[in-house]
Amino acid sequence: MIELFNVTKQYKNGTSALSNINVQISKGDFVFLVGPSGAGKSTFIKLLLKEIEPTEGRITIDDIDTTNLSKRKIPMLRRKIGFVFQDFRLLQNKTVFENVAFAMEIIEASPKEIRRQVPTILSMVALSDKANMYPEQLSGGEQQRVSIARAIVNNPAVLIADEPTGNLDPETAWEIMKLIKQINRRGTTVVMATHAKEIVDMMQQRVIALEGGRIVRDDKKGVYGYED
Ligand code: ADP
Ligand code: ADP
Repeated sequence: MIELFNVTKQYKNGTSALSNINVQISKGDFVFLVGPSGAGKSTFIKLLLKEIEPTEGRITIDDIDTTNLSKRKIPMLRRKIGFVFQDFRLLQNKTVFENVAFAMEIIEASPKEIRRQVPTILSMVALSDKANMYPEQLSGGEQQRVSIARAIVNNPAVLIADEPTGNLDPETAWEIMKLIKQINRRGTTVVMATHAKEIVDMMQQRVIALEGGRIVRDDKKGVYGYED
């Protein structure tokens, strides 16, 4: 599903953020990406999203070689990936329904498809009764559920989450984790960068640890492994 071959990322100022990374993530995997600040987690995620390019090596996602992808084909790649941020990044002047619908409009889904699909997804994240509210009227957990709905509404092959529980209290964080696990159980591959030790230790999923731009651990049922 996701493969990195000898991937190195050196920023323009000379900082080596990732060095010769090789990793394979299979369809349906659930992967926690952990490591101290500066380890290269954000760089890893930005490479998957093709926000930045590797200095060396090759990245494939769902059999698409993203490295030499023509501009024309980038939307097709982005459609395969749903993304969830720590700070939700919802459109404040749009309702819950419109925020989710917007993700479908971008890929030019028909109004009919949108009318059918958005309520289905809002029901899945238990927000049917908040469809007409605006983000500022919602709790943090609810806002994150909207952003997850938006991320999965186009049925992506991969869900990438960067600290999705970072702004939430522990109880709400667990609700969000259950939702992400539920999405994973339906077959979506999940890659989640996190500092949430309790969550990683409890969930017993694959853990890839980065330190200084290198993979130092890759355990099938791993633990967080840091004291921060
Ligand atoms: P993490 O997400 O694990 O904290 P990052 O991927 O953000 O790690 O950073 C990895 C390394 O790359 C760090 O040394 C960081 O300072 C450096 N870095 C990140 N972004 C840039 C950039 N745009 N330009 C130069 N160096 C960067
Ligand atoms: P599953 O759906 O696989 O039965 P859950 O998604 O409910 O499990 O939870 C995944 C893991 O998180 C389990 O190990 C569960 O014990 C743990 N967990 C769920 N909710 C909480 C919570 N509120 N506090 C601590 N651990 C929790």
